[in-house]
Amino acid sequence: MTSLAGKVVVVTGASRGIGRALAGAYARRGATVALLARDEVQLHGVASELAGEGARCGSFRCDVTSDADCAAAIDGVRARFGGIDVLVSNAGVTLLSPVAALPLDELRDVLDVNLLGPLRLLKLVLPEMLDRRSGQIVVITSVAAARGLPGLGGYAATKAALHTLIDALRAEVDGRGVDVLEVAPGKTTTDILASSRGPGAGHRPLDRLQPTMTAEFVAERVARASERGTRRLTLGLGARLIALAERVSPALTDRLAARAMSR
Ligand code: NAP
Repeated sequence: MTSLAGKVVVVTGASRGIGRALAGAYARRGATVALLARDEVQLHGVASELAGEGARCGSFRCDVTSDADCAAAIDGVRARFGGIDVLVSNAGVTLLSPVAALPLDELRDVLDVNLLGPLRLLKLVLPEMLDRRSGQIVVITSVAAARGLPGLGGYAATKAALHTLIDALRAEVDGRGVDVLEVAPGKTTTDILASSRGPGAGHRPLDRLQPTMTAEFVAERVARASERGTRRLTLGLGARLIALAERVSPALTDRLAARAMSR
């Protein structure tokens, strides 16, 4: 177990949903939390709430698709709080579309947020962590990273790409003092579908199959895994069942996944 007290933790997508809850979970463990997202008003609201509870925190506007924003935000965090101990790449968007109808421009945009966003930021913080021989990279993927689901193929592909990228990173930094944690949540109650992209936006995929977790539950489990130096965490009964079914019978999983999609 490594205590998070006094550590500097950067959380992307901290303006709402799982990221907001993550900021609270790390702050309650005594970490200094840097909140990153695009919506400055929301970010200030979250920061004031946490500060009111006694947390040391700050908000930094950052669109993770912008190299300049990422560099400025990380510089800002270092100037205010010093070296970064934990990077939690949580910011993400969904894309709802059957594969054959996937709009390529929207897939590019979603890939930019879900894959290149975490990569941009880790390139900025990893050298410092390796020099210091301590640090942690946390990425939030999805149950869809392990198994493409109907209507979510484009989104799943971006999360699967992040999953494999992070596996490679974990092997590259093995024995060099930097931990790499991937968290693959199942369905969690947030407003993520409100900002979803693609022709299926407005649909509610997988409503029938998966029980829903709260963002706070997910955040507590992530922060605990972060303290323990866990490598990978799959959260939610639905997510674990899908991963198991895929190992036992991929063909059956195809049929179950097709039926799970709400019409
Ligand atoms: P959410 O409520 O929609 O929150 C998404 C967050 O990402 C917001 O804070 C948003 O902030 C930020 N964001 C989006 N685009 C951004 C950009 N270009 N630059 C910087 N920040 C950006 O979604 P959520 O459900 O909490 O999802 C969080 C993560 O969990 C995502 O990676 C998602 O794929 C993953 N996940 C969610 C579920 C689920 O069921 N909810 C399941 C599995 C995995 P701004 O709009 O202020 O920038």
